[in-house]
Amino acid sequence: MKSKHIETIAVHGGNAVDEGTKAVVSPINLSTTYEREADGSYPKEFLYQRLNNPNRQALEECMAQLEGGVGGACFSSGNAAAMTVFQALKPGDHAIIADDLYRGIYFQIGTVFKDWNLEFSFVDLSDLDQLEKAIRSNTKLIWAESPSNPLLKITDLRAVADISHRHNITCIADNTFATPVFQKPLTLGFDLVLHSMTKYMGGHSDVLGGAIVAKEATPFFERIKRIQVSGGAVLAPFSCYLVLRGIRTLAVRLNQQALNAMEIAQFLNEHPKVEAVNFPGLPGHKGHDIAKNQMCGFGAMLSFLVKGGEQEAMKVAANVQLFTRATSLGGVESYIEHRASIEKKSAKKGESIVTPDNLLRLSTGLENSHDLIADLEQALET
Ligand SMILES: *Cc1c(COP(=O)(O)O)cnc(C)c1O
Repeated sequence: MKSKHIETIAVHGGNAVDEGTKAVVSPINLSTTYEREADGSYPKEFLYQRLNNPNRQALEECMAQLEGGVGGACFSSGNAAAMTVFQALKPGDHAIIADDLYRGIYFQIGTVFKDWNLEFSFVDLSDLDQLEKAIRSNTKLIWAESPSNPLLKITDLRAVADISHRHNITCIADNTFATPVFQKPLTLGFDLVLHSMTKYMGGHSDVLGGAIVAKEATPFFERIKRIQVSGGAVLAPFSCYLVLRGIRTLAVRLNQQALNAMEIAQFLNEHPKVEAVNFPGLPGHKGHDIAKNQMCGFGAMLSFLVKGGEQEAMKVAANVQLFTRATSLGGVESYIEHRASIEKKSAKKGESIVTPDNLLRLSTGLENSHDLIADLEQALET
């Protein structure tokens, strides 16, 4: 059979009717240990929960299929997945990191890995010359994220993957914002994809999880998996079950959420109290053409600048009634967030942040777009 479409993979990926009971939905398998045969063997290859578990295996299989990879590893969080990637580097290695990557991973590098005899360069990956110049003889990793957070900057992923491979460097893309519904970094040439499954994969803001999917079973990916099961940064069976349950509706959720986001972006773009809208689906967006080229939809995240300053932006966030004032993203309910205040909170003393003070980020949910627009309209008027 021909390789299947994303909607079909989302519904069926990793599922198998339970042999013991004929249950259509795989049961949650909580056992930490498995019985050996008389000869000492493990006929089902499950041995101990930290090493493997049926729910985790099903989710990893589904994630690999969704991203078009050969295998996946599911972690206790997106940050745990990132941490394992850096642990898989060796002392003295150099990594080039997108300068606008997810803040939590930026802070992880600054607080944990700066003391690990690893070298990091933070580079604007939309500038390919800058990327080429940053490459050293000990560069082992290039880390991209597109669209980025919270400015929704677009990186030319094909070009970054080409440069990586010309220099024999492993490249990884954080695909949390786009999801495989809209973008598949592995088919654009990337070696690894990272997800915070806490976001769109789980999709209901009630489970934490992370994943790495590999295009090929490289020694680097094998090392990531060895470090993972050795340290135990694995996703618990119940969480695996919840994420997989969320994935079943991934495609239909994302398609509708992206439609809502496009309508909201167009509304904000015309609004007199809005200075600018960051959404790759708008033709005026700097990365629109590249986005059109490498994505088949523009996602459901956007941000906008309120005319005036921090106070005016805070007032809009204070006045919304339908949007929830919350961090994170990817749930069925819409969120609004003043990013600068949360980023300042986690920044080290004296460290500056680049997010504008008048920026609000929206995670567009599944409400009716007219209701969401009406809410923003009244919040901007008051
Ligand atoms: C949330 C997020 C992460 C971190 O994931 P957790 O599950 O919160 O640890 C990484 N990358 C992006 C883009 C995210 O939005």
